[in-house]
Amino acid sequence: MSGFVFSEKPIEIERGEGPYLYDADGTEYLDAGASYACTPVGHCHPTVVGATVEQVERLLYVQGSYPNPVRTELYEKLSALAPDGIENVWLCNSGTEANEAALKFARAATGNSKIVATKRGFHGRTMGALATTWKPTYKRPYEPLIEDVEFVDYGDEDALAAAIDDETAAFLLEPVQGEGGVHAAPEGYLEAARDATADAGAALIVDEIQTGLGRTGSLWAVEERGVTPDIVTTAKGIASGLPMGATLCADWIAADYGDHASTFSGGPVVSAAASATLDVIVEEELPAHAAAVGTHLREKLRAADLPVRDVRGEGLLVGVEVKRGANRLLRDLALEHHILALPAGRTVLRLLPPLTIGRDHADRVVDALDDVTGGAEG
Ligand SMILES: *Cc1c(COP(=O)(O)O)cnc(C)c1O
Repeated sequence: MSGFVFSEKPIEIERGEGPYLYDADGTEYLDAGASYACTPVGHCHPTVVGATVEQVERLLYVQGSYPNPVRTELYEKLSALAPDGIENVWLCNSGTEANEAALKFARAATGNSKIVATKRGFHGRTMGALATTWKPTYKRPYEPLIEDVEFVDYGDEDALAAAIDDETAAFLLEPVQGEGGVHAAPEGYLEAARDATADAGAALIVDEIQTGLGRTGSLWAVEERGVTPDIVTTAKGIASGLPMGATLCADWIAADYGDHASTFSGGPVVSAAASATLDVIVEEELPAHAAAVGTHLREKLRAADLPVRDVRGEGLLVGVEVKRGANRLLRDLALEHHILALPAGRTVLRLLPPLTIGRDHADRVVDALDDVTGGAEG
């Protein structure tokens, strides 16, 4: 990944603290991508590190068939924080696995096979999740993937209604497409998806792997829209960068999910890290903070009148669509301003900083963008 952006001047990262990363020489970088949204509470948050170190010394692993207090505590916390009605928790080790489980559960619970997914969507890179990911170059070398996946235009309610029928197991989508260019679902789209899937007896799966845990300004993006899916998936920052994913399911899914398991499901060390991360998100009221700082960031970006095509997003999931390739801008931000941001396709610069950043960090990003877009874009 980093070779793609920084192929000319690699930056080797050694240490992290809060919103900052440091290389071997001690040079400080503002991690405005939160290392792919994996550090919502910042790097090495003391609460998370403390809980993790304590657990490392107590127990690294026990098979999932024995109850373990740390795992039990995480189940309870996630159930309590899950959107109402989807309180059954399946734990795994990554986002793609969380979606893989969601697809399996939906097929088992409905007895159907067809999956409807969205163009520009991203859901991971294992064979099942990859089949629901849009970008052809990710898929082509590995085909055939799982069958019976149909893609619809994101946001088109009529196309959705036409695609979902009695044979459909699930409709899978992101509430805001992240990697696909930072596109939020248009108003009414999730509601239409809820209605169409409910009518057909299909599962509505919402992939909140990038949007969830406060990033869009509430704990789950579906909550802002007042929609209750049948399954929500989460991963990325849930354990502050240790590998974990979770599939949150309604009772009717959990009652008939087939036979699924994973050796490392809810391992004690990642569970301790996840539990502590969730505590910090709740105690520091990070969803509301992300909403406020995200609004400030977008307002500043617009007020700066940068030579860009669009500024969009929700909370601290922000896309800046530029006129030419985003790569040179990302490189200049990193090398000249020590700000690490992300691409979302060729022409969109994606900002997903830790949810803990302040307005001063947001202003620094805007000033830097003003500088790097000045010469080449204008
Ligand atoms: C990153 C991401 C995934 C895949 O997660 P991995 O942990 O890389 O497997 C799936 N869906 C969305 C929306 C993502 O952003």
